[in-house]
Amino acid sequence: MPFLSDALDRVSPSPTIAVTQKAMDLKAAGKDVIGLGAGEPDFDTPDNIKAAAIAAIEAGKTKYTAVDGIPEVKQAICDKFKRDNGLDYSPSQVSVSTGGKQVLFNALMATLNPGDEVIIPAPYWVSYPDMVKLAGGTPVIVETTIENGFRLTPEALDAAITPNTKWFIFNSPSNPTGAGYGHNQLKALTDVLLRHPHVWVMTDDMYEHLAFDGFQFCTPAQVEPGLYDRTLTVNGVSKAYAMTGWRIGYAAGPEPLIKAMRKLQSQSTSNPCSISQWATVEALTGPQDYLQTRCDAFRTRRDLVVAGLNAAEGITCAVPEGAFYVYPSIAGCIGKTSAEGTKIDSDEDFANALLEEQGVAVVFGAAFGLSPYFRVSYATADAVLEEACRRIQTFCAGLR
Ligand code: GLU
Repeated sequence: MPFLSDALDRVSPSPTIAVTQKAMDLKAAGKDVIGLGAGEPDFDTPDNIKAAAIAAIEAGKTKYTAVDGIPEVKQAICDKFKRDNGLDYSPSQVSVSTGGKQVLFNALMATLNPGDEVIIPAPYWVSYPDMVKLAGGTPVIVETTIENGFRLTPEALDAAITPNTKWFIFNSPSNPTGAGYGHNQLKALTDVLLRHPHVWVMTDDMYEHLAFDGFQFCTPAQVEPGLYDRTLTVNGVSKAYAMTGWRIGYAAGPEPLIKAMRKLQSQSTSNPCSISQWATVEALTGPQDYLQTRCDAFRTRRDLVVAGLNAAEGITCAVPEGAFYVYPSIAGCIGKTSAEGTKIDSDEDFANALLEEQGVAVVFGAAFGLSPYFRVSYATADAVLEEACRRIQTFCAGLR
């Protein structure tokens, strides 16, 4: 009898976490490595948020809380949805978990049965399909193209829906491409969903506040109120407030679903960290002005990275609307051999050789379900990004 479960056999370790860990290990071993793998802001958590956490510790707010969030954080989340997205939710429709990851995991675990299908546009964030598989469902991957700006077309969505479709996972601005859907582009998708009343929408809005050049973020239940009763709107403080390590994600949606997610969480982790919840209250209700300042810094970096990558032979990089990722194509590098003799037959070969030969860590495209590409997380200092681009250019110039 095998010791490990069949469920575990259906998944692989998270490649984003693996690359991040590898870069950290190499650095710790004294190697000159530039990590562009981790999708996390390099900025520090703002001082007012840290102070709120310290105050919470000092006030003894260090005990168990309600399983899916203290009333104060739920109210702050309802106010955020109203303020930023025009969405009306009551605290009983809100669930708070240990990172966006647990929110998504809870929702999938709470709803999927064998045979249930989940539509995921590719390239996708690495954990969506594996979470679906862990929960016993079937991911249905629908590829997008660089020509379409990595956006799913309404026709492709419509064609992917079957009587077994339970969820459509939507993510804009996207990890890993940074692609964002404008109002009309999203409306075209929600129009399709209106015609299929059995399909629910899980929208991952984690990169909401990272939108450039006037791109207006919008979310499905806002664009199509007709979907409100079958949409789970997921968000979190990790990216917007540079709080990745605090692990707070949240969602709002129909009460029966939120209740089911709470039941699951009550038997796994119980409440998310009490101190982090108080920090989140401050993040969501305190000053918001630095969001724009940080967004401007990311836009400058995006431009720097897009230009630096397009200057590398064999690489084509589109200009994304948001997040802090770019997803360059390496079609022009495939089939070549690196300066140190590695044959580049796949984006995984490319990423491995780039790390080996130039000390730049990126995540290969196959991990996100669309090849041959790689993901750059440009949430790091400008000077580091400039050096990384120089190294990538040198690597590409050495390909024969
Ligand atoms: N969301 C980030 C990324 O894509 C964090 C790592 C993870 O949880 O996958 O790199």
